[in-house]
Amino acid sequence: LFITFEGGEGAGKSTQIRRLAAHLESQGIDVLVTREPGGSPGAEAVRHVILSGAAEAFGPAMEAVLFAAARNDHVEQVIRPALAAGKTVLCDRFIDSGRVYQGVTGSLDPFLMEALERVAIDGTMPDLTLILDLPAKKGLARAMKRRGEEAPDRFEKETLGLHEARREAYLAIAATEPERCRVVEADRTEKEVSAEIITIVDTLLET
Ligand code: C5P
Repeated sequence: LFITFEGGEGAGKSTQIRRLAAHLESQGIDVLVTREPGGSPGAEAVRHVILSGAAEAFGPAMEAVLFAAARNDHVEQVIRPALAAGKTVLCDRFIDSGRVYQGVTGSLDPFLMEALERVAIDGTMPDLTLILDLPAKKGLARAMKRRGEEAPDRFEKETLGLHEARREAYLAIAATEPERCRVVEADRTEKEVSAEIITIVDTLLET
């Protein structure tokens, strides 16, 4: 089973992944937790290049190519082998982050984005995508709090409008692919969100 977690900044993806992983492991399920951008040595190196801002001069289209290269390495080196070994893979961000961050708010050519996605994942689609949804303002406040004294990364410095546009873009994906995507209201306690996620995943495991 391949499950991806999506949502804006501060939506609680990593916390919820940890909780779901603990639940699944307690059921004797073999779990692999991973993340994007990154997740394999090659992709983590690309993550550093992107998040440090060193690739900004490349322009958004070439940056999307970098994200795709990182995703492909991650899929080939980590995700696909784990799935083949029978593990349940939980991934923090995947194709929908690409569609939303690079595609929608990066205003890139949909044909380019589609092609990059296809080449990057080469058929490895998530079975389930959990979209953690909350107002951008609340998410950003959480992300800033988490970071404390550290400087925000360049994505957190963007305008609220952009973050709201991303939220809308995620909801639009969920509406187009209801089979794969479930929207989870994230503006609740950790425990409440986690309980809903566990119910969704347990139901999927039973089918
Ligand atoms: O989820 P996490 O905070 O680790 O993501 C790191 C940053 O990379 C985020 O600020 C996110 O906005 C950005 N990102 C992106 N495009 C992606 C994936 C992540 O811009 N495809």
